[in-house]
Amino acid sequence: MTRPTNRRLPRVLGWILAYGLLPAAAAQAEGLAAANDAATPDPGKSAAERTVVEHRVVPYETLDEIADRYGVTVKELEAWNKVLKRQPGTLKAGWELKVRARVVPPPRRKITYVVRSGDTWQEIAAKHNVPEGDLHRWNRGVARQFKAGQKLVVYTNPRPVAARKVASVEPIDPSGEGLGVSVTPRVFDVPAGGVSIGTPNRGRLSGGVQLPESDLYKVRRPEEAWGSSHTIREIQEAIAGFRDASGFDGELVIGAISLEHGGRFRPHRSHQSGRDVDIRLPKRRGADPKSNDPGDIDWDAAWKLVEAFIAQGDAEYIFLDYSRQRRLLEAAKRAGASADTIEKAIQYPRSRSTNNGVVRHAEGHLIHIHVRVQCPRDQARCES
Ligand SMILES: [Zn+2]
Repeated sequence: MTRPTNRRLPRVLGWILAYGLLPAAAAQAEGLAAANDAATPDPGKSAAERTVVEHRVVPYETLDEIADRYGVTVKELEAWNKVLKRQPGTLKAGWELKVRARVVPPPRRKITYVVRSGDTWQEIAAKHNVPEGDLHRWNRGVARQFKAGQKLVVYTNPRPVAARKVASVEPIDPSGEGLGVSVTPRVFDVPAGGVSIGTPNRGRLSGGVQLPESDLYKVRRPEEAWGSSHTIREIQEAIAGFRDASGFDGELVIGAISLEHGGRFRPHRSHQSGRDVDIRLPKRRGADPKSNDPGDIDWDAAWKLVEAFIAQGDAEYIFLDYSRQRRLLEAAKRAGASADTIEKAIQYPRSRSTNNGVVRHAEGHLIHIHVRVQCPRDQARCES
């Protein structure tokens, strides 16, 4: 199974949505040029210098807040978005508003915050730069006196970051040619800006992105499921590919990735830079989900999972205890994989210390695999 380069377009769209890189011509085509007529003086950038951003309205957000966020006025927002004129006084969550921004903060993101002991509503609101009232409204079912471990919905509101650069944007092919027409691209809206710094064993995570909840998988602990933008996209795309290719409809549990800012993450040695993800191997139908018995693992599905990550193209290693690799190899054979594919994919039957195969021995990885995603080529601070 190969998945052609259908990743490229969604990724670029993600950048655009996040950072408003629509070229001036496209902005005009969107009818935004008319906005220049709005009789509002511009103290900072001239209209031509502004950045076009699409802002997705979050629940309970107000027009005043949106205007403040981008250094524009409510009048301007109304001039640029017909929907606001058609329905005055209405602002619905999920609406995409066009903004010619003077200031471009990172996009607001929906995350799952897990309460730690000693946290207060006020502190959590302040930490994410949101009104405390909104925090309560997003979490109506949650008692005022919460306990550690309580999960809260938060729409973060990052402040502008100076000199946040978009280093490389791959060119868009607007014709869509070469995107592999036979593949149904699944578009994952992954926030840009999550970057790995340093190595997996000694590193950190800047602008971390939390793996969102999904019907493709289950996230065991959201507070441990932060990765680079690249990693989060790879996980979602590979698992979507796995589901399509295998038809496996059982539970797939995602364990540790990294902490929100990366760094030391006990008891793991790695998992520090947002590039490592533990995935519990798929179980046979009817097996006890907590079982450690290798006989309860659906090795055919496990091979499809490994294959999907390899096909995705950016799995540097997939760690699996050597004692389990024979079962994986047999499943690959049953699936009709070629000898060449298997040799490239799996270390076994070569010794557990050889530098062969994407699937490598690592002690203790008996019922889960640990995928390490490669550094993106354009990120110099990410180290292998
Ligand atoms: Zn691990």
